[in-house]
Amino acid sequence: MKINEKGHLEIGGADCTELASQFGTPLYVFDEAHIRKMMRVYQQTINEEYEGNGLVLYASKAFSCEAMYAIARQEGIGVDVVSGGELYTAMQAGFPAKKIAMHGNNKLPYEIAYALDCGVGTIVIDAYSEADLIEREAERRDLVQDVLIRINPGVEAHTHAYVQTATPDSKFGFSIASGAAQKITEYVLSKKHMRLRGFHCHIGSQIFEKQSFVLAAEKNLAFVARMKKTLGFEADMLNMGGGFGIWYTDADAKIEPEGYRNYLTALLAAVKAGCEQYGLKRPFITLEPGRSIVGEAGITLYTVGAIKDIPGIRKYLAVDGGMFDNPRYALYQSKYSAVLANRADEAPTEVVAIAGKCCESGDLIGTEFNLPEAKTGDIVAVLSTGAYNYSMASNYNRNFIPAAVLVREGKAEYIVRPQTYEDLVRNDVIPAHLK
Ligand SMILES: *Cc1c(COP(=O)(O)O)cnc(C)c1O
Repeated sequence: MKINEKGHLEIGGADCTELASQFGTPLYVFDEAHIRKMMRVYQQTINEEYEGNGLVLYASKAFSCEAMYAIARQEGIGVDVVSGGELYTAMQAGFPAKKIAMHGNNKLPYEIAYALDCGVGTIVIDAYSEADLIEREAERRDLVQDVLIRINPGVEAHTHAYVQTATPDSKFGFSIASGAAQKITEYVLSKKHMRLRGFHCHIGSQIFEKQSFVLAAEKNLAFVARMKKTLGFEADMLNMGGGFGIWYTDADAKIEPEGYRNYLTALLAAVKAGCEQYGLKRPFITLEPGRSIVGEAGITLYTVGAIKDIPGIRKYLAVDGGMFDNPRYALYQSKYSAVLANRADEAPTEVVAIAGKCCESGDLIGTEFNLPEAKTGDIVAVLSTGAYNYSMASNYNRNFIPAAVLVREGKAEYIVRPQTYEDLVRNDVIPAHLK
């Protein structure tokens, strides 16, 4: 992103004020080059530092639409999906099923059946009931499904720190420490229609601490070694999850795409060292970055409408979007940064709240935006909204989920078309007695 000679914000070579007038607001805008760059940095690091014995799986829950799977397909990486809906979207985009990993802590019977019908590469087991379902459905189809088991290594990572937890309280995974991970491993190994390839862990999200990933890798390798020793099972695949942090505000580190290499270098070094230490074959490594691939590649454009200045309290800029396109402030007080896209060269002069248009006091994009004095009609660009915004959007208050455009060399095209009033009532039914 940069500021052009007109003082306007530019993304991927496109002037944001022109995007706003061409496509309307609110609008999600994605920079294709940035997305590709991130995918490449991760895969190239595996290629160069781990002899290509691994695959990046884009965690598509961060931003799922057909075009995203098409980009991942062109880049030659894999994806992970966490629902039948994400899987369907990937299949519609022609994504190779073998490069798909299926996640979820409570996969439904129809989702497991669909995953087997599609022929997904791996399913990550997170419950006994799931293991039973996969076994039954695979037997019915006379096939053997590759599976991983989600383990909980007892490393809980937060943005700038991590903690080791002995008795972790989580709905995800089987704890190594409690013995649950070994038990489910034995269980899955006893089944005929599942081929256990190895283990998966995902220790959290928006993590900047390299050591968290290193520690998780060490714990996983120790577990792999123990399973080899006690059960004679040697994992040949290890899925290390995602969770790499991104810049939202200046409280976060700003990492250039190349900088993410450092996380993988540290993680892969820990895997190699663990293999060395325990005499294990180096497993195929998969990684599942989501936020760090699309987060900073996306922005949301809004138009400023009502402005309410409450003396001595705060000033609210109401925009044409809100919690229906970005619920993250309402959900967890996530912080964002913003600029006025049409006056991006002006220095900030005040701190304002940006409010949405929903009938909720908590419908805010945030309360601490440094901006020049905004006027009705100005275009606000909220930054780093590429991950977990569109994918978490809703039609609350029967607002439209905004369209998304992909910008490439200055040109923008729809990747998600705008909704219409007809879309909002498409599934509504009036029973006869109400007519
Ligand atoms: C959410 C999730 C990811 C991606 O996490 P990011 O923080 O977006 O990188 C990867 N793997 C699993 C299992 C997840 O649930």
